[in-house]
Amino acid sequence: MVANRTRPVAVVTGASSGIGAATAAALGRRGYQIVAGARRIQRVQRVVGDLGLALPLDVTDQKSVDAFVGHVSKTFGRVDVLVNNAGLASGLMPVAEARDDDWIAMWEVNVLGLMRMTRACLPLLRKAKHGHIVNLGSIAGFEVYKGGAGYTASKHAVRAISRTLRLELNGEPIRITEVAPGMVETEFSLVRFRGDRKAAKAVYQGVKPLVAEDIADCIVFAVTRPAHVDIDEIVIRPIAQAASFLVARKT
Ligand code: NAP
Repeated sequence: MVANRTRPVAVVTGASSGIGAATAAALGRRGYQIVAGARRIQRVQRVVGDLGLALPLDVTDQKSVDAFVGHVSKTFGRVDVLVNNAGLASGLMPVAEARDDDWIAMWEVNVLGLMRMTRACLPLLRKAKHGHIVNLGSIAGFEVYKGGAGYTASKHAVRAISRTLRLELNGEPIRITEVAPGMVETEFSLVRFRGDRKAAKAVYQGVKPLVAEDIADCIVFAVTRPAHVDIDEIVIRPIAQAASFLVARKT
């Protein structure tokens, strides 16, 4: 693809599904040149179309991150917006029965993956006139629920990383926004329950959850503010969800 020197460049991780796919499409419609990545590359290609580049990306693999960011560097030479969206929950077990592989999977993507992408993209964000990092946190970043410790701990970590970055980058023209959604109907629950469609559907029973486009709206809002305005955190939940474990359901 031929890079445009004036239009901003947005990198979106986990763009094969859900919030990442909706965000890539929404930013593309706003004129951003999109570089979208995930493991299921054909799905990313369908999302991106002619909005930019679709590249394979596994944020748990440093070589994959390096190849992805190397491609962005060669094509555009800068990154204006990095959306660290790739993430997952795996299982819903109390700590007493926690599985190592579930916790490793969540921490590898949600925490270490976000760190790897941020570290690799920072030199390119510094080449933009104004850089912006958007991290997908969650209400699980400041609330907890039974069975959720592995996931909530990883999203508490995302919150800590976002706040730390704001200190470390103070004085540079790089904004940090954490977007913290409640319940959004995506493939999230299907992944958490290892493909069990019935269990995934039950999560959204009797309630109108958020949709991925609601979160994409928030991200577009944050990144399109004037450059001196830093939206630190956006918390967004369905009206029926007062807390992660307290959902008013219609039966
Ligand atoms: P989703 O539909 O399951 O999408 C998750 C995305 O992450 C997929 O595109 C997936 O792509 C990607 N991903 C997973 N592992 C990856 C890896 N190793 N490397 C690169 N990409 C990877 O779920 P979602 O709801 O849109 O979740 C997006 C973000 O929102 C996550 O950080 C999640 O924690 C957060 N969030 C979701 C909710 C909710 O209720 N849905 C609430 C709060 C926060 P591939 O599998 O193709 O790699």
